[in-house]
Amino acid sequence: MNRNPLSLPATSVWWRLLVSDQPDQGVPQPGDWLVGLIRWSFFIGLHLACLAVVFVGVSPVAVGVAAGLYLARMFFVTAFYHRYFSHKAFRASRGVQLAMAVAGCTAGQRGPLWWAGHHRYHHAHADRPEDRHSPAIRGLFDAHMGWFLRPENYATPWKYVRDWARYPELRWLNRFDMLPFLALGAATYGLGALLEAHAPGLGTSGPQMLVWGFLISTVALYHATYTINSLAHRWGRRRYATADDSRNNGLLALLTLGEGWHNNHHFYPGAARQGFRWWELDPTYYGLLGLAGMGLIRDLRPVPASVRNHGRSRTAPRRSPS
Ligand SMILES: [Zn+2]
Ligand SMILES: [Zn+2]
Repeated sequence: MNRNPLSLPATSVWWRLLVSDQPDQGVPQPGDWLVGLIRWSFFIGLHLACLAVVFVGVSPVAVGVAAGLYLARMFFVTAFYHRYFSHKAFRASRGVQLAMAVAGCTAGQRGPLWWAGHHRYHHAHADRPEDRHSPAIRGLFDAHMGWFLRPENYATPWKYVRDWARYPELRWLNRFDMLPFLALGAATYGLGALLEAHAPGLGTSGPQMLVWGFLISTVALYHATYTINSLAHRWGRRRYATADDSRNNGLLALLTLGEGWHNNHHFYPGAARQGFRWWELDPTYYGLLGLAGMGLIRDLRPVPASVRNHGRSRTAPRRSPS
């Protein structure tokens, strides 16, 4: 599983920067500090690069592409990384499964098995000392964006994704998860350059489209996604008395296409929808209904009526399929 095609030692700093599947999860490695420094620099650099907007300017088409790629990739993360790879809330063919994994990688949030493994771990230990991103344990900042940059969380937690590890194409993609992300960056630049040459009236360019469509869109996507680990465990209402601090927050649901109904989700994680009431906006679920209507996915797992009508409860959390 962890064979190294470039013949670099598995502990090499460069190898560990390139891949997401180091086997020694949780064990300190020589060079951890350098890996951490480079990853932090890349993460901060992505934010600083957005300031290049003062040089490249703005156009309606660039802002439109940025918004479109934010929404599309938020859907890929919530529908595919979260509801499919983490919770198996619906079924898909192997080909569609791979397409969903590639789409998810364009969000730049590591590979599908890394993401799903850490997320399953979160559900198993939510807001207890072992939880790797709980605002109650290590504070809001760490839950938002410190946890995934800590060396002990770089590796894919294979123990939690054994079901997916039997697919070689998913293991490969999980290892080289940066490729679809970087390809998207190149594509935004190419689109801008193409429009500049063939539709100069639109007022865009390669660099401008790269800054808006890729950099700004990605940073916004990052922080909106992270709010579910940070704010959705602190601010909002609790319909269900779960054993964690999860909350329902309509504003976060709007930003994340339905993930803000996080208390619903912690109470019953296995459902394809997270807005349990008709008024709880869940665009990801509506998108999944569309994909099911096209025959691309099937067997969307419903919310049982007993769960949906539970209302405010003081009872102990019910075990549900995760
Ligand atoms: Zn949570
Ligand atoms: Zn979940």
